[in-house]
Amino acid sequence: MFAPTRVGPVLRVGLTGRQSEGGQGRDSVAEKSPERVFLHTPLKTVIGVRAAKQLAEKLSLVTVGELLRYYPRKYDRRGRLTDLSGLKVGERVTVWATVRSIKERQLGPGRKVKSITNVVIGDHKTELTCTFFNRWNLARFMPVGTDAMFSGTVSKFNGNLQISSPQIAVVSFEGSTQPALAGAVSDLINDKPSVSPGKDAIDVIESFPGGLIPVYPLSEGITGALMQRCVRTVLSVLDAVADPLPDVLLAEHGLVDLAHALHDIHRPPDEKALDAAIARLRYDEALSIQLVLARRRAEMRNFPAEPCPRVEGGLLSAFDEDLPFTLTDGQKEVGEVIANDLATIHPMNRLLQGEVGSGKTVVALRAMLQVIDSGRQAVLLAPTEVLAAQHARSLRSVLGQMGNGGELGSLPGAIKITLLTGSMTAGARREALLDIASGQAGIAVGTHALLSDGVFFAELGLIVIDEQHRFGVEQRNALRNKHPAGNPPHVLVMTATPIPRTVAMTVYGDLDTSTLSELPKGRSPISTTVVPAAEKPQWVDRAWSRVHEEVAAGHQVYIVCPKIGDDAEVLAPASGKSPEAASRDDHDPLDDGLDDPDDEAPGEDERRPPLAVLDVARDLAEGPLSGLRLGILHGRMLPADKDAVMTGFAARRLDVLVATTVIEVGVDVANATMMIVLDAERFGMSQLHQLRGRVGRGEAAGVCLLITEAPENSVGRARLDAVAKTNDGFKLAEADLELRREGNVLGTSQAGKSSGLRQLSLIRDREVIEAAREDAMELVGQDPTMAEHPGLAAMVAAVIDEEGQEFLDKG
Ligand code: ADP
Ligand code: MG
Repeated sequence: MFAPTRVGPVLRVGLTGRQSEGGQGRDSVAEKSPERVFLHTPLKTVIGVRAAKQLAEKLSLVTVGELLRYYPRKYDRRGRLTDLSGLKVGERVTVWATVRSIKERQLGPGRKVKSITNVVIGDHKTELTCTFFNRWNLARFMPVGTDAMFSGTVSKFNGNLQISSPQIAVVSFEGSTQPALAGAVSDLINDKPSVSPGKDAIDVIESFPGGLIPVYPLSEGITGALMQRCVRTVLSVLDAVADPLPDVLLAEHGLVDLAHALHDIHRPPDEKALDAAIARLRYDEALSIQLVLARRRAEMRNFPAEPCPRVEGGLLSAFDEDLPFTLTDGQKEVGEVIANDLATIHPMNRLLQGEVGSGKTVVALRAMLQVIDSGRQAVLLAPTEVLAAQHARSLRSVLGQMGNGGELGSLPGAIKITLLTGSMTAGARREALLDIASGQAGIAVGTHALLSDGVFFAELGLIVIDEQHRFGVEQRNALRNKHPAGNPPHVLVMTATPIPRTVAMTVYGDLDTSTLSELPKGRSPISTTVVPAAEKPQWVDRAWSRVHEEVAAGHQVYIVCPKIGDDAEVLAPASGKSPEAASRDDHDPLDDGLDDPDDEAPGEDERRPPLAVLDVARDLAEGPLSGLRLGILHGRMLPADKDAVMTGFAARRLDVLVATTVIEVGVDVANATMMIVLDAERFGMSQLHQLRGRVGRGEAAGVCLLITEAPENSVGRARLDAVAKTNDGFKLAEADLELRREGNVLGTSQAGKSSGLRQLSLIRDREVIEAAREDAMELVGQDPTMAEHPGLAAMVAAVIDEEGQEFLDKG
């Protein structure tokens, strides 16, 4: 349905009267002319070597197209006719007015001043006289009726306001292509002295139709005036621009063509045209991203995969029969979708997002069972050792008899669950690798260690990645390659960090997405309270007595701090490996980092250092929480020690766990009902939401206290209040995104050449992104290699630079 690339209308006739018809060498006259200017033409042939060198060095802008895609950051609006009645004597002003009359008076010979010209200008009501000396033929330059900008100091003469010798810039008069102005502009660019008319006139105030004066993101050595002049010159000689967008898309979305958009973004004739230009270029960006992603999805779909249809009477059916609870509607629905994905001959690539506690693990396990029923293996990849060990443990307990394969007295057909982490001894590792390679292990659970060399699967059918936000495409690919002999496995990635839809569609856009939005029934809500430590110190005391009450009621408590403490701390090796080796092998990516350095308030240096686990645990044990059984958990502990602490906490041998964000994901102890976050303002909003998801997982209500010294009315407090106010992770994620000042979503931040998205905002432009996603799917569906749309491929390259594409690759 899409028409192939077409050629846009001629934007503007070149000043030299060159032929400007057609694009791509249709025009044999033009082909001979080296002077035709297209988007790919090097700037140096258009604006002169010197200016081109500056743009190349400072902003990496080399071609005409690159310069034109370097959009203004904002616009100064000087457009409307200035209200002249408001002017005051002595004021320096730039006014926008219409020429009403011109009177030139010759003075006698022998005088220095040979002529005086009075130009009366006016807005709708008021008039003002501008006086010029020795300026000939102004009437030809700006006849009566011309709109122009006049810049100078207001004075009073004979009781009337006037401006003496203002600088002028003519904007438009009928039929003019303003050769004089354009000539002066190119002279300036080449650093030759500008010649008449009005040598002072043009270099300062340039004319902008509509009075929207572009302000460019500048870097050292590049002035706004230089940018304006270069763009102007380029636009004045630019040949026809071929629009890569099919007509039908332009029409469907009411978009202007590329030639107009590129012109109007730099020199908008009016606000409406500017809006239209922005809308068009914004769509270009959205479509470019979506084309990259749609092509990637299409490529992945083209791989063959081992179909794993549901098997009646298999492990999955048995599991479903024994399930101690009923699946939520969401779990059923997503389960169906995944079951169908797994049954097809192409690999599934699905992102499953769901609130903390929404029961993603069951969904994943059911997928694993379906694959195992087809005689294949599944692997579950977790971001930390704590989580991997916990998954292995909970899978074994959930599966019961079905999951004790390889153990004494196990039933035939029982699944062997094999754990592989970096901290295992060489012997245990060898055994695990053998299990995996021989196909004995039905389910392998592990950390990054699963990605290391020497890990191979016999019949890998499904990769499940828990907590996707810590993994990228690279890791997914590394795992896919662990199965070199056979077809690529299916992939299910799960995240509990709610991803705003726009981000899901861009950064994770190569995955199909499912969402579990409802929590299992009987889940108690978490109530969150902000405790302002500075203003209400007695509330902090109250918090500690609440801890005692929870413990007395048989529950457990997490206390979270932003830092581990004493950096020089040396931990004694406890598992036959030095801590260095352990951390090298199995670096814990959750290692206690705060996720939001950007959010740090200014003057951060003056704040006291963040509270640390080691100090807090000691102070609490000796102080307000003495008598309770306290444990410590952080990322620098040895994996075996971490695991021991988690097991102890799960078995209720500990009342209170003082920890870093290492407990952020996945930790599932239903008996924990209370969480206290210290220095809460130092955490990101989404992170706090993740953290509090650790409590309220059982029947008893969850309580989360956010203790902070951030002053009332501070941004930090506002964020905490927002977290306390809503339990909706998606809302918080959107708010978080907004508070992050967005930046460049593609992760590229360098100044200059097409550094990612200039017009597209993940916050505002959800609809544009959705529309572009559909268009991209349709385009790629009809033309998977983009062979019929070479212009679109070029646009993608122009809009998303290499760095941005790589970023999309990383997911
Ligand atoms: P998350 O989505 O955060 O990973 P989990 O999968 O860990 O959530 O599930 C949280 C808890 O809820 C687990 O203890 C799990 O057994 C339980 N659960 C999952 N689905 C249901 C359900 N439909 N009804 C009741 N409990 C459920
Ligand atoms: Mg989970």
